[in-house]
Amino acid sequence: MIIEAGSLHKRYGDVVAVDSLDLEVEPGMCYGLVGPNGAGKTTTMKMIYCIVEPTSGSLEVFGLDVRAHPREIKARLGVVPQENNLDPDLSTCQNLRVYARYFGIPKDIAAARCHELLEFMHLGDRADAPVPSLSGGMKRRLILARALMNEPDLIILDEPTTGLDPQVRHLIWDRLLELKERGITLLLTTHYMDEAQKLCDKVLIMDEARSIDVGSPAELIRGHMLPYVLELRVDRKLTAEVLERFRHLEHQASGQNLYFYGNTTSEFDDLTGAYPDIERLLRPASLEDVFLKLTGREIRQ
Ligand code: ATP
Repeated sequence: MIIEAGSLHKRYGDVVAVDSLDLEVEPGMCYGLVGPNGAGKTTTMKMIYCIVEPTSGSLEVFGLDVRAHPREIKARLGVVPQENNLDPDLSTCQNLRVYARYFGIPKDIAAARCHELLEFMHLGDRADAPVPSLSGGMKRRLILARALMNEPDLIILDEPTTGLDPQVRHLIWDRLLELKERGITLLLTTHYMDEAQKLCDKVLIMDEARSIDVGSPAELIRGHMLPYVLELRVDRKLTAEVLERFRHLEHQASGQNLYFYGNTTSEFDDLTGAYPDIERLLRPASLEDVFLKLTGREIRQ
């Protein structure tokens, strides 16, 4: 196992941030942690990359105890934290080279890797640019390049694509999949369920410090949802009426959207016949539906 946690627990004063968490991440997989804000994802990651100490429970990374071997573990890790913590007084390339020094990487090797990684992240023409002149997407790509400087076996990414435009998100996804093909293990948190579904072999859904389910995206969808979804965008005035008339169908609501679930698409015929003018989308069930069902706090069946 690359990461193995048993009954992991973290408390900050009176706040229980992580409670009785079991986790197994196998080599070469992309493992996703998802959950609402405050669920405990970042705290879990920080324990794994050895900057927060567990209150109790076991946690091993590369088979090493995080309390006894933080230096050895950190040497084999790459971290993309939630915040952009680049050095604003240095250029793009200098940020990578200074980072290489922490790992004792010789200067000539660091220079070659810096060049190679900036090309890999499509930042080759920005090597000498000062950090404040970079866009948000460039900074995020630079942080990923920095996380690769020590040729890590495991990369930990805390919301790697939050706030980025679709082109940059796709570039980052492509790069992450390429790293996975090279055998590097990825652990990521995200609030984008399409991202988790696209990248992750396994997803753990957390809520209020606890794991509520874990599995591949397909397993989670099969286990919790009927296969078809009719998504309706309903005027607030009509919501109660639609729900009352079709309450026999499995459903959930989120804001102005109503979601009805069925084993076959024909189960929605009466509904679409009764409200032909409502904007609607018929689609297969997704990880987002599972997420809403397990962590949503609005109307449920
Ligand atoms: P988000 O999606 O918003 O990043 P998260 O799932 O990563 O949330 P955490 O940041 O791990 O959640 O927070 C879990 C809980 O622990 C929250 O209640 C948070 O307020 C609390 N917490 C996190 N860090 C600290 C800290 N340093 N001191 C006190 N409480 C903390």
